[in-house]
Amino acid sequence: MRAVVIGAGAAGLMCAGGLAEAGHDVILIEKNERVGKKLFITGKGRCNLTNDCDVRTFLDNVVTNPKFLNSAIYGFTPADCMAFFNSLGVKLKTERGNRVFPASDKSNDIVKALEKYALSNGADLRLEERVTDINVANGSVNAVKTDKNSYDCEVVVLATGGATYPATGSTGDGYGFASKLGLNVKNPTTALVPIIAKGTEGLQGLSLKNVKASFVSGEKCVASDFGEMLFTHTGVSGPIILTLSSKIGKYCDKNSVFPKGSYIQIDLKPALDFQTLDARVQREIASAPKASVKTVLYTLMPRSLAPKVLERAGIDEEFRAGAISKKQREALVNTIKGLRFEAVKKDKIDFGIITQGGIDVSEINPKDMSCKKVKGLYVIGEVLDVDALTGGFNLQIAFATAKAVVRALL
Ligand SMILES: Cc1cc2nc3c(=O)[nH]c(=O)nc-3n(C[C@H](O)[C@H](O)[C@H](O)COP(=O)(O)OP(=O)(O)OC[C@H]3O[C@@H](n4cnc5c(N)ncnc54)[C@H](O)[C@@H]3O)c2cc1C
Repeated sequence: MRAVVIGAGAAGLMCAGGLAEAGHDVILIEKNERVGKKLFITGKGRCNLTNDCDVRTFLDNVVTNPKFLNSAIYGFTPADCMAFFNSLGVKLKTERGNRVFPASDKSNDIVKALEKYALSNGADLRLEERVTDINVANGSVNAVKTDKNSYDCEVVVLATGGATYPATGSTGDGYGFASKLGLNVKNPTTALVPIIAKGTEGLQGLSLKNVKASFVSGEKCVASDFGEMLFTHTGVSGPIILTLSSKIGKYCDKNSVFPKGSYIQIDLKPALDFQTLDARVQREIASAPKASVKTVLYTLMPRSLAPKVLERAGIDEEFRAGAISKKQREALVNTIKGLRFEAVKKDKIDFGIITQGGIDVSEINPKDMSCKKVKGLYVIGEVLDVDALTGGFNLQIAFATAKAVVRALL
């Protein structure tokens, strides 16, 4: 049987290799001059290829449509993924948070291993060829058209990826093909992305550890995360902000803009409740009553943050610490536990690690990734409306959905 796989990214390479290994005639079409351009930049060039956790934990880290992925992830678990790369000769290591990387710290080892897997099993790789159309006759796929050729086939695997980092080739082409074939596509937006916020001027470059960041909309705390974050020249970023950005998709419009009254709220001392922190502030003031209140705050937070906290608390930074009133001190403690920045929008889709939205999973059979409406069409990887948090989960989704197709066509 002839299968055309569109896109030689993580999902497409895995699927093409597996189908070719199973004896199918496979054509793998990639518009770039080389395979796996996005894969190459993953994990800051180290490729966090999966997460060494059990399936339940895995699915807890999937933000959109975890139930849909149940069968695919049980069919190709993180342990299976690690065994697979070991079988290709890639040594792996596991780091903090069960994140799995190649032992070499080189994403290229993963790209090369997958490319070799596809080519050595006989997949016919066509580089610098852009798919322009998928032909369907009587409800079944029968050909794929490119800017150079037309390929007759019985199976088409759509593995064109999402719409973030378009320079890697993931320009959202798959959404257009799917819409044309009558499939519903949920508005692709971005996730795992910095948040543009107002009021962060002067703080760019500052990183905070052990803080709690929350997204507050209409005075309701919608999502929180604890850990590290940083200020950028346009707002906030860093691990806990990226996670928040994934969890708050439904609170923004289709242009990723948040409604008025949305904030990123930072608790700078999450381990201390109000009373304990108030007592701590009183102790610091008592030990240096003649110092400026700004200087006293240096014992509690990074220096560059103290003026911002005092400004928000309505206290002059040069005010003598010993002279602040109880009311002012309470305002100060409240600000340390709830420093707010108006959330404007998620940053541009170009800068997102993952696309949220995509081909509606209700169009797809979760067992084998086949399309319900079009016979012979399979959809895998990020082009689907699935996304997960950071930690190797998104690549595992790409690999597992690819393997689901391979199992179905054995
Ligand atoms: C900066 C960054 C870091 C990341 N780090 C990690 C990480 O460490 N761990 C993790 O799990 N996830 C990570 N991700 C997410 C992960 O890279 C993606 O989820 C994953 O690559 C999706 O795989 P895919 O095969 O579906 O799509 P892609 O890898 O995007 O591949 C799609 C391919 O299809 C090709 N294509 C598109 N349209 C056409 C067309 N019309 N004709 C021919 N070819 C076409 C593209 O050129 C591309 O090569 C990261 C993402 C980014 C942007």
